Amino acid sequence: MLFSELVAYFDRIESVSSRLDMTAILAEMLSKAGGKEIRDIVYFSQGMLGPKHTGLEAGIGEGLLEQGIAKATGYTKEEVVRLYKQVGDLGYVAEKLASGRKQTSLFSGRLTVEKVFGNFVKIAETGGKGSQDSKLGMFAELINSAGKLEARYIARFPLGNLRLGIGDPTIMDALALNYVEEFLKDKKNMAGIEAALREKNEEKRKEEFSRRARQRLRETIEAKYNIFSDLGEIAERLKAKGIKGLEEIRIVPGTPIRPTLAERLSSSEEIVEKLGNCAVEQKYDGFRLQVHKDRNNVTIFSRQSENMTGMFPDLVEAVRRQMKAERVIFEGEALAYSEQTQQYFPFQVTIQRKRKYDIAEKAEEFPLRMFAFDVMYLNGKDLMGKPFRDRREALEKIIGEGEAIALTKSIETSDPKKIDAFFMESIENGLEGIIAKDLDAPYIAGARKFAWIKLKRSYRGELSDSIDVTIIGYFKGRGKRTQFGIGGLLTAAYDEEDDSFKSIAKIGTGMNEEMLSELEEKLSKIAVKQKPGRVDSEIEPHVWVKPSYVIEVRADEITRSPLHTAGRDKEGTGYALRFPRMLKFREKKPEESTTVKEIIAMFRKQASVQVYQAEK
Ligand code: AMP
Repeated sequence: MLFSELVAYFDRIESVSSRLDMTAILAEMLSKAGGKEIRDIVYFSQGMLGPKHTGLEAGIGEGLLEQGIAKATGYTKEEVVRLYKQVGDLGYVAEKLASGRKQTSLFSGRLTVEKVFGNFVKIAETGGKGSQDSKLGMFAELINSAGKLEARYIARFPLGNLRLGIGDPTIMDALALNYVEEFLKDKKNMAGIEAALREKNEEKRKEEFSRRARQRLRETIEAKYNIFSDLGEIAERLKAKGIKGLEEIRIVPGTPIRPTLAERLSSSEEIVEKLGNCAVEQKYDGFRLQVHKDRNNVTIFSRQSENMTGMFPDLVEAVRRQMKAERVIFEGEALAYSEQTQQYFPFQVTIQRKRKYDIAEKAEEFPLRMFAFDVMYLNGKDLMGKPFRDRREALEKIIGEGEAIALTKSIETSDPKKIDAFFMESIENGLEGIIAKDLDAPYIAGARKFAWIKLKRSYRGELSDSIDVTIIGYFKGRGKRTQFGIGGLLTAAYDEEDDSFKSIAKIGTGMNEEMLSELEEKLSKIAVKQKPGRVDSEIEPHVWVKPSYVIEVRADEITRSPLHTAGRDKEGTGYALRFPRMLKFREKKPEESTTVKEIIAMFRKQASVQVYQAEK
């Protein structure tokens, strides 16, 4: 197809406002496209060079585009920038300047879709030294060869958006429109719709019939897209073999599956009412990752199907080492985990692993742990239709020994009380809540259908005050911190009632190297063999110390906890700091640290104490 034909369709699409009209034009455009180029056209009309997970981008910023337009049209960059400021769209700038071009183009009107797309791929693949100049040159050449309308879309494309409002849903609608006749040739498809229409009045029958038929095909296309996130290839297969081509689409390692989504309910009773006996898992707050392993080839996708493989070399290694399957697609949540305190880091720490530079350093500082919760494909078999119970069983079997990848912690129950207890335990472990799962449900790609139900802490309190705690012991350093002798601290609040120090938090973050050496110097001098008399703690540190030093800490909030002794009630539930970070040493006596009474008052004041059912 000539590029000028394609942009004429784009221009028509831009001029209509109803989605129906837009879909009809798009459908016509796709029906005119050739067998191979339809793929590029699908990507191009969405401002992309391939399916999202390939992450291929032209990589030309606005500045370079302005320069390119100037170079191709003979105007100065200042003139281009001025006009851009006026009209606010580089496409219109290129269009306008191309029409008043100060230099004649070489072969205007002869650009093909293949040539334009191919050039942008070349631009995308150009990297390294001097690449900006080459990109600029290739872009300018395209604008130079373009007619007015062509220039509009060539200039918009590198910014990742043609401003046509064409998204995945519109493309699927258009494909459904084009193949609905063929779809209805299969009596099976016809019968279902006719049956549904039996009661309808005769006049509207026809119209309604075709609407439903399209809808049915559209759902079929979407179901395929959900397990194979590449609309370009779907369009190409439809073009090559019609509906049969569509039906042949299968899950393939390397192409992401759209993730299932969780519904929300507000109590364990509601969950049991909905699901009955169900699996209940801890809800971890990190990155949701979909891992594809094809022998030695490992690809990791984000929840949005972006390729994140390069960011997580530690996980890639772990997958190769631990997963006992030749080919597998599984999902889980990955989060940074502190070896020092044996606790999960908050999301703010985990998020630091999402980066383009210093990947290896951060991987060492904050190694990820992945908690696997589902498997969709195993050694050539599509497991999506199997009940969750079976998938979980399969998953359990293929996770080999090692620490980096583990199953999510889970129980099976139909008792709301057990769910509540498990919920509290998750919160105390520094997690977000729980997710209940329907044991009989298939994996529902791309949708929210009560197969998963989440129950989260209702809101999250930010503890604005810092808290002063006394150090009562420490844990030895591991990994990077071996050299310091100290990895984490056990700390306590002061209880005036019985003049004791009651444990409230393990702290492993906030201290820099200088603080760690200072801690080691100070604490090694006050180490004692046994738990000091005034210390009340069930958690045993590697080394106890005489209560002597007070440090200031900040935490996200105060939570209830069965592990710590501060403020323990009859049931044995005390208080703990969630995500504590050390700020600095305080010049205070241990007896001047924050008291248990103050902690309880702060807990009550926290707007968020109603961690769901805390009052129960
Ligand atoms: P939300 O993002 O609040 O809708 O909760 C759903 C998300 O929780 C999923 O997309 C996962 O990223 C995350 N998650 C954490 N733990 C689990 C788990 N055990 N099972 C499923 N999803 C989990």
